[in-house]
Amino acid sequence: MPLPVPLGLYVHIPFCVRKCAYCDFNSYSGLGYLHDSYVAALCHEIERCSTLPGRDPVDTIYFGGGTPSLLPPESVLAILNACRGRFELVPQAEVTLEANPGTVEAESLAALFQAGVNRLSLGAQSMNDQELARLGRIHTAGQVREAMRDARQAGFTNTNLDLIYGLPGQRVPGWRRTLKAALELEPDHLSLYCLTLEDHTPLARQILRGAVPQPEPDVAAEMYELARELLRAEGFEHYELSNWARLPDTNAWDDRASQAQRQGSRCRHNLKYWTGQPYIGFGAGAHSFVSGVRTYNLSDPRQYIAAVDGGTTAMEGAVPIDSVEALAEAMILGLRLVEGLRWQDIRSRLGRDPRDKYAPELSELQALGLITLDDTSVRLTARGQLLGNQVFVRFLPDSASRSLA
Ligand code: SF4
Repeated sequence: MPLPVPLGLYVHIPFCVRKCAYCDFNSYSGLGYLHDSYVAALCHEIERCSTLPGRDPVDTIYFGGGTPSLLPPESVLAILNACRGRFELVPQAEVTLEANPGTVEAESLAALFQAGVNRLSLGAQSMNDQELARLGRIHTAGQVREAMRDARQAGFTNTNLDLIYGLPGQRVPGWRRTLKAALELEPDHLSLYCLTLEDHTPLARQILRGAVPQPEPDVAAEMYELARELLRAEGFEHYELSNWARLPDTNAWDDRASQAQRQGSRCRHNLKYWTGQPYIGFGAGAHSFVSGVRTYNLSDPRQYIAAVDGGTTAMEGAVPIDSVEALAEAMILGLRLVEGLRWQDIRSRLGRDPRDKYAPELSELQALGLITLDDTSVRLTARGQLLGNQVFVRFLPDSASRSLA
């Protein structure tokens, strides 16, 4: 039976020129020799996908990584054609590709646009060359500027810049300069992430031995507040805890304005994750979520290629999401959206009203000034946005971890 809503597809490209000092993603340097066999395996996995029997409609495709822009545009086209062959790609589907500014040039961006990529997400991370060097990034701020200029010339009208704040040694005025420099490039969307120190990364080790200063959470909170203010003043809509979209031109709408128009520059693919919609992931370590079951692929690209080439499944595991987890996940992901979540949406999706299960948690969080709720919906307050993790922990199924710190 076809799904009630169009699917999103995620395509993982696990290759990078060099590992960044803070990176804990499923990405690898030194595996360039695998590019061709990996792309061939990806195309096979997509063509043979049996998660759903029919040619279900797809309205978003997201190439994430790793560094998808390391692939030649012909390979991206081959993967997109495999998606078009297996699924029904709807007109005006959003097709995003993550790009590292150190791996693109005018020609490759033009070829990617021609291939059907219509949203470019540039991993800028900072507009300060010293910070970029400390993070182990392979590019400079100048290359971010060039990549944005080349992207516009190639035809991209939907661009995102990723930035990281809360870096070791970073102060609020420096963050303001990075934000201002990013805004000068007129992106349509900004994703701002607070640095998370992952164990076993080179940056965590440098901090542990005192070679690099500790990140300061209070300073990071000030940076977040600054971003909220500055981006509001610049005409951006804060729609998810870490994401801002340029406000749509509502004058151009009439009653028939499409859902895509109404979402403006919001990332339609990532909205699927936050609103519990189905998606299928392809490639090493990619996750899928269809009909209440989460599955994940083998994460090592060599094992992934061997499995697909050998005609077996690349899936490493499947986890059915029970009703308790589904409700917890709906709360945690839905509260990431600034507009929050509507009780009615959760009732129609999961057949339960979160207020029946979480009444004590909701009243306590409300009393603490972290959420605001009414008969229609619940959302984080401005203070709750700063302390999101303290809210989310209340909904985790494991009650042992639920007391507020
Ligand atoms: S480019 Fe991205 S995925 Fe690759 S190492 Fe750096 S942070 Fe990790």
